[in-house]
Amino acid sequence: MNNLVVQKFGGTSVADVDKIKNVADAVIREKRNGNNVIVVVSAMGHTTDYLVKMAKDITDTPSPREMDMLLSTGEGISIALLAIALQSRGYDAVSLNAMQIGIHTEDKHMKARITDIEKARIEKELNAGKIVVVAGFQGVTQDGEITTLGRGGSDITAVALAAILNADRCDIYTDVDGVYTADPRIVPTAAKLDEISYEEMLELAQAGANVLHPRSVEAAKAHNVVLRVRSSFKLNDKGTLILGVDKMEINKAVTGIAVDLSQARIVVCSVPDRPGTAAKVFSALAKENISVDMIIQSYANKEHNTNDIAFTMNSDDAGVAIEILRSLKDELEFSEVEANFDIAKVSVVGAGMIGRPGIASKMFKALAEADINIKMIATSEIKISCLVDKSDTQKAIRILHDTFELSDGSIFEVTGGLPIS
Ligand code: ADP
Ligand code: ASP
Ligand code: MG
Repeated sequence: MNNLVVQKFGGTSVADVDKIKNVADAVIREKRNGNNVIVVVSAMGHTTDYLVKMAKDITDTPSPREMDMLLSTGEGISIALLAIALQSRGYDAVSLNAMQIGIHTEDKHMKARITDIEKARIEKELNAGKIVVVAGFQGVTQDGEITTLGRGGSDITAVALAAILNADRCDIYTDVDGVYTADPRIVPTAAKLDEISYEEMLELAQAGANVLHPRSVEAAKAHNVVLRVRSSFKLNDKGTLILGVDKMEINKAVTGIAVDLSQARIVVCSVPDRPGTAAKVFSALAKENISVDMIIQSYANKEHNTNDIAFTMNSDDAGVAIEILRSLKDELEFSEVEANFDIAKVSVVGAGMIGRPGIASKMFKALAEADINIKMIATSEIKISCLVDKSDTQKAIRILHDTFELSDGSIFEVTGGLPIS
């Protein structure tokens, strides 16, 4: 039987018709090598951002259902154009959306999780020798409602298909040629990694390295999907292989650095120090499906026996969170809710931290010497995160990259935009 390969192409890789033709070349290459090919594509260029903006120009609070109806249209365009490009080159291809395939998700708009994928339609098309072009990012509930998986979610579609169909590999093609020690657009001296463990990649992705969606890494790890990040524009380049940590030799304490610029810091000020307060605050947020990241509770006032509870979350969730918290003001008797959006989370990640003390102090010392104030700290077994002022981000990430000696001497040539200035 032929090998099965899943290829995924992100927005920049299908930004215009010429780029779609370039993607067709990459797909045809795999097909001509004798593989069965499933291609997952994102919406063209900044289409999804543009769709979001149009809705937000009408109202700040568009309904999540209609947002999913709107956002799912972006991928519909790119799959059809890619199938047309493949057909025009003489290859049999068919584009399919989530409804046609049966990519089922939970009933949760804008951040739905895939629950299962029907294989029948895809297998039928593959058996007929066709290249199957699938719309990333979208799903359908049991009731036939359209959902989306969360921004950057096409990665999840690709890995989920690779897992369910037992693909031989899943290649994520993007606008950089692999996973780097830091976002190469922010740190031009970042080094490309030939390989990285699922665990480290997951921590980096959760810490803001958007080269892969964290849930796609989680799914790849759980189902042993052979996952690779590679360049849409340098097809011979092998990119970066994501693999089990047990298969790797770990030389350095820190493997990579990530930055998350989309965090908000919320402080519930002067809450009376009583049992059950934190539980109330966080369960109210959890009920609205809002994930909280870093948390600090500090003694605000000894005399009045009150605490400040500070935490971070994705800034998209902050508006709803503030509303929920304010509705608890009378019950919890706090003084006010503060929000700060001018912050960034900088994280260092490395499986090599385990059993190597002193990494956190080295990080704090480097930031202190650069006069960067740390507002919050959080750690996991293989990650240390510090919250800093947004204006310090660039400096912080470059200093840490030097401190942990992550450069290999090469310089990344930036094409396209910079994520921060
Ligand atoms: P796509 O549209 O292909 O899904 P994304 O913009 O989601 O592409 O992801 C690719 C981008 O991720 C790169 O252009 C780069 O700026 C950013 N990035 C962040 N951290 C890293 C990293 N550690 N290695 C490589 N790229 C990174
Ligand atoms: N088009 C969607 C987005 O921009 C999904 C993706 O690109 O992965 O978030
Ligand atoms: Mg992406």
